[in-house]
Amino acid sequence: MTARILDGKAVAARIRAEIRQAVEERLRSGLPRPGLATVLVGDNPASQVYVRMKRRACEEVGFASFGYHLPATASQEEVEALIRELNQNPEVHGILVQLPLPKHLDEERILSLIDLHKDVDGFHPINIGRLAQKGRKPLFVPCTPAGVMVLLEEAGVNLDGARAVVLGRSNIVGMPMALLLIRANATVTVCHSHTRNLPEETRRADMLIAAVGRPRMVKGDWVKPGAVVIDVGVNRVEDPTAPKGYRLVGDVDFDEVKEVAGVLTPVPGGVGPMTIAMLLKNTLRAAELADMERMSL
Ligand code: NDP
Repeated sequence: MTARILDGKAVAARIRAEIRQAVEERLRSGLPRPGLATVLVGDNPASQVYVRMKRRACEEVGFASFGYHLPATASQEEVEALIRELNQNPEVHGILVQLPLPKHLDEERILSLIDLHKDVDGFHPINIGRLAQKGRKPLFVPCTPAGVMVLLEEAGVNLDGARAVVLGRSNIVGMPMALLLIRANATVTVCHSHTRNLPEETRRADMLIAAVGRPRMVKGDWVKPGAVVIDVGVNRVEDPTAPKGYRLVGDVDFDEVKEVAGVLTPVPGGVGPMTIAMLLKNTLRAAELADMERMSL
């Protein structure tokens, strides 16, 4: 069997076009331009690339983009003061603090300070808490898992009662991914570095979401024939033939798994573009929430 390859880039482009149109309509009807503030602390090269991509994507759909780059030595007080200032700024509808933060900073305190209505990354403990509770509705859902849910919909899968396996339990991907799948009525297994016999677990999955950060870890014989496999991983591997000396691969061994899976996402061009599309969607929603708040005053 050769898997159907899901084109995340094309799905994301469609979502971005819808957002661009929504922004034009907002401006025509006199509503403010949605604005996203990005906060980058330190010089992590991957973080710099991600922030640049997010800011560019904002500009392309007509959002205002406000970039704040603090030195790696920035104190907890300085970062907190910036978040408070952005919370007060009416032109800023969404605040994104690029993770990971330098080790000396208290990430939880910083994320908790973000105004719940501007928490477009969905990492505020209250939004995550609501995601974990039955009958509660978070204002925003973390972007990468939200993007995976859209891709699963594109794959035409019925999540109700399906067996889903999530590889990874990080705050950013694995854990919120598992919570979203549970809310969609899947039966979810979460695997991590202490899981015994991973291939045995993954072979049971109707849908397998890999988010471990280990290049090509998921092999063909880890996958149930016909399963939907979503590869979240982004890993640099050396490649002397590539212009930069490296290239990006996922957590899934693409060549092997495409012969077994029913649907598979590529890296790059799968989940990555969806993460950014979901960030834009969340920012538009934040602007709409601000409209509602203004109108109710
Ligand atoms: P983390 O390092 O925070 O988490 C990795 C998770 O994988 C942990 O739960 C860890 O287990 C588990 N794990 C690590 N090694 C193994 C192993 N050998 N066997 C089983 N489980 C293992 O990573 P993130 O969740 O932040 O990211 C995961 C991947 O997704 C990375 O490649 C990252 O670059 C990518 N990513 C992609 C995004 C996109 O938009 N496409 C966005 C965000 C991330 P334990 O908890 O026990 O340590």
